[in-house]
Amino acid sequence: MINLFIDDTIAAIATAPGEGGIGIIRISGPKSLEVAEEIFFSMSGKKISEYPARTLIFGNIKDGDKKIDEVLVAYMKGPNSYTAEDVIEINCHGGFISVKRILELVLSKDVRLAEAGEFTKRAFLNGRIDLSQAEAVIDVINAKTDKAHEVAENQLDGSLSNRIREFREKVTELLAQVEVAIDYPEEDIEFIAYTTLEEKTRELNKDIKKLYETSESGKIFREGLKTVIVGKPNVGKSSLLNSILGENRAIVTDIPGTTRDVIEEFVNIKGIPLKIVDTAGIRETDDVVEKIGVEKSMASFDTADLIIMVVDSSSELSEEDREILEKVQGKETILLLNKTDLPQVIDEEEVKKYVNEENIIKISALHNEGIEDVHDRIEAMVYKGDIKSSSNVIITNSRHKDALYRAMKSAEDAMRAIEDRMPLDFVEVDLKNIWDYLGYINGDTVSEDLLDNIFHNFCIGK
Ligand code: GDP
Repeated sequence: MINLFIDDTIAAIATAPGEGGIGIIRISGPKSLEVAEEIFFSMSGKKISEYPARTLIFGNIKDGDKKIDEVLVAYMKGPNSYTAEDVIEINCHGGFISVKRILELVLSKDVRLAEAGEFTKRAFLNGRIDLSQAEAVIDVINAKTDKAHEVAENQLDGSLSNRIREFREKVTELLAQVEVAIDYPEEDIEFIAYTTLEEKTRELNKDIKKLYETSESGKIFREGLKTVIVGKPNVGKSSLLNSILGENRAIVTDIPGTTRDVIEEFVNIKGIPLKIVDTAGIRETDDVVEKIGVEKSMASFDTADLIIMVVDSSSELSEEDREILEKVQGKETILLLNKTDLPQVIDEEEVKKYVNEENIIKISALHNEGIEDVHDRIEAMVYKGDIKSSSNVIITNSRHKDALYRAMKSAEDAMRAIEDRMPLDFVEVDLKNIWDYLGYINGDTVSEDLLDNIFHNFCIGK
């Protein structure tokens, strides 16, 4: 358990940069109220501390005699605040100047600029939320679809924390039994210990495994289903992209520092964030596509979660089609027979040799026909398990997945040790390992370095 003594006060702009109606400066720490009272003057003439906490107070921010902006100030006394510390939020006019000048003024009063994610980190360190909840905060902010948002909100509410706590309680019970049997090494106690341990450890193992298995689909909500659209020139890839993007376009991000070709588009397919990779390549003219060549698109195959391959069903399968079909073997592939509005020439029996029949869909990208079937198919592929129900806890974070995997392996070790009637000390070690690995998830057993790593991915002001 990390026990840091936090005694400094931090501040940052909490709203997104740019022009907007309101900008918010957030201050957290023991000096929040004192600093705010130095620079804020309410219209009523009363001090912030004379109002009940959580009141929005109207007034001016002043630097000496100079008015900076007209604002609303709220004081949230710890522990009833986001960070569980004393927090002041100053709502000023949006744009660049007001927020910047107020922040600078605050920072001139022995307050330091907050690091990325530091407010949320404090909420964790002060014990208001556990680590999986803190991590859910960034997932809520980054969610690309309603479903991804819902999953993150669930985690923020503590659904995963509760599940992990239940698991750990079970481990604690098991450990207690093992310890009794070690302390009182009579034969009959030992016998009972082994039989009950066996049953309970098996149950625990099953529960952990079940949770672990949600991670395969869960990761998709957080990171997007990495999708590559392939096919030789002129089969209709751009047309398909346009019809998929149609109403479903979510977000386009330019990845800084990479070539201008790499653009990610997020498309919302029935709540699944589809991350279509390398769309710039698809959009280029045919000769550029040829220049980039099949070779290059093959490179993105390895990391893709889903490959959508397009062929032109109004002509025969060509060598080039076959070459690509060979390469998609064994990958999650949906094969689209495009241009169904034209007379059909393709040999359907032949394509079935390459791709599972249920993953072959006829469409006309030009006329927007069959696109719904593509969406249904993607949905079916993602929701392989029973994770669709929102009441279920879903593992979306690869760090949690890794910790669960280790916990699961330790549970298997414990099972084997019990089955083989190994000395109970061995079993005890495995059980302790399970306990520790589960603790990574809620932050009970994490290092400071790991925490820094996690919170660095947050935005400033969160
Ligand atoms: P890409 O090179 O694979 O990206 O293919 P495009 O999307 O640029 O399409 C090549 C040509 O095929 C264009 O003239 C499209 O209008 C046409 N096309 C695409 N989809 C269809 C379709 O479903 N039916 C018909 N008849 N033509 C299509």
